[in-house]
Amino acid sequence: MRQSNFFMPTLKETPADAVAKSHQIMLRGGYIRQVTAGVYAYLPLAYRVLRKTEKVIEEEMAAINVPEMQMPHMLPATLWEESGRLEKYGAEMFRLKDRHGRETLLGPTHEETFTEIIAKNLKSYKQMPLQLYQIQTKFRDENRPRFGLLRGREFVMLDGYSFAASREQLDKQFDDEKSAYEKIFKRVGVEVRPVIADSGTMGGKNSTEFQAPAAVGEDTIATNETGTYAANLEMAVSVDTFKQEPEALKDMEKVATPGCESIDQLADFLKVPATRIVKSILYIADEQTKVLVLVRGDKEINEVKLTHLLDCDSLRTAEAGELEKITGSGKGGVGPVKADYADKIVADETVKGLYNVVVGAGETDYQFVNANLDRDFKVDEFADLRVANEGEPDPVDHLPLKFTTSIEVGHIFKLGTYYTEHMNAKFLDQNGKAQPVIMGSYGIGVTRLLSAIVEQHATENGVAWPKEVAPFGIHIIQMKMKDEIQSKIAADLEEKYAKYDVLYDDRNERAGVKFNDADLVGAPVRITIGRDAADGFVEVKRPTDEKAVKIALTDLDDFIEQELD
Ligand code: ATP
Ligand code: MG
Repeated sequence: MRQSNFFMPTLKETPADAVAKSHQIMLRGGYIRQVTAGVYAYLPLAYRVLRKTEKVIEEEMAAINVPEMQMPHMLPATLWEESGRLEKYGAEMFRLKDRHGRETLLGPTHEETFTEIIAKNLKSYKQMPLQLYQIQTKFRDENRPRFGLLRGREFVMLDGYSFAASREQLDKQFDDEKSAYEKIFKRVGVEVRPVIADSGTMGGKNSTEFQAPAAVGEDTIATNETGTYAANLEMAVSVDTFKQEPEALKDMEKVATPGCESIDQLADFLKVPATRIVKSILYIADEQTKVLVLVRGDKEINEVKLTHLLDCDSLRTAEAGELEKITGSGKGGVGPVKADYADKIVADETVKGLYNVVVGAGETDYQFVNANLDRDFKVDEFADLRVANEGEPDPVDHLPLKFTTSIEVGHIFKLGTYYTEHMNAKFLDQNGKAQPVIMGSYGIGVTRLLSAIVEQHATENGVAWPKEVAPFGIHIIQMKMKDEIQSKIAADLEEKYAKYDVLYDDRNERAGVKFNDADLVGAPVRITIGRDAADGFVEVKRPTDEKAVKIALTDLDDFIEQELD
């Protein structure tokens, strides 16, 4: 490809509204342009990386014998009514009505569409195990689209689905997909950690996320140093090491704590450690159940764990006015003593084994001191409902947990029979008995992956693309376009190395302009043809090399082979 014919509108300045490194580089390098919030045009550079990433995916899926297919983007809402997800999915779904008034939507994911095809076309255990996948644009009306391709409203996803007649088949499918995903990430040059994950609205309990460590990541993962434990912080088990010395139970007393709303303020005012305070927070589950949740003052409530315990679809804290109406107290005064308004009182395990604690007195600006569990207040259920803290022992090897911010690039689930039961996808087993098909679902955010690669491979002035996905393998830069010897060598090399994808900078531009652009193209090998060409020498540079090195044209083949094969 001749650069004089190419289209990469580079920018001199970093756009002020781009926060993420990858977003900045992709804008500056002319990879992408925003068309509307969270919706991007993939210009030629980005599109080349995207196609190459898709090719890696296609090869690895073929290697585990999974056929590719294509579902429509536009779906009838009825499909989602059947699965029970139409309302559950919420405001993220793009919905429209056709001219006949039929409810239609733009697919955010395709469990329902695949399950429906299976329900109608798979009859016998003999047709399984079966796996299918597609690479397709998805639509999600994200609340906060941001960071360029990292969180878009229209994005490309690899989504795969597996169908099994037994748990054993599902386990094997899941393991195959997992190892194929690991190979994909390795080939595209992204370092990932598989971690224990939350299944969200997908149904199913068993899921693994692939997390790519990066400063801009919206997720936090908790891992130990040996890698025997790795979980999304949302799911990380917390091991509490605090112990309070037993004490004689004192009489409970009500005390005024004017203006104290936070644990810090209370601890300060009452001169007690946060570990002697029990925090009470009122949650509304599924817009109806009032759940009072207790946790020791030095810990925070983990809403994902709480959602799992309550087995609810939606969860929120009571709003200010609502809180007073229900409990009779403002924030800070809410407590578990005589909390008859609560449909349920649940507590984190840290609330056990405490003596003479401070709890809200059910009245704004008042607390009870020397309150005791079972004597003064009751708890219906205990569980690990807290956010794990960095440094706590992991639950497997008791090594200190370390936190890392990261980008979720993939997610694989053992779904079980949630969709197939709702949508009546049954097969006849060996005994002629009808059984629901057992499903798995598998996804990689392909366009998000592009950003993750750039996040992990950014250089000072651009990016160092891993060779399998680099938009071009070789970037030839001719210094003087009028020099016939240089032109001859450039044209020869362009032809000889065509299989590596060559971008040939044949523009009449200053060297500085050419080199700046080359940093943004980020080809694994840059060949500069300059003054020494007449003597049979050129210069080569890899994006991470500090300086270019002179090399004889006769040695170039070896160098290229070593770098790119
Ligand atoms: P997140 O928690 O980041 O919103 P998710 O749990 O909603 O992700 P899934 O439904 O599991 O994501 O989708 C599969 C994959 O698609 C994700 O692992 C992620 O890589 C990608 N993905 C999800 N939402 C977006 C988005 N808005 N923009 C780009 N990629 C996305
Ligand atoms: Mg999401």
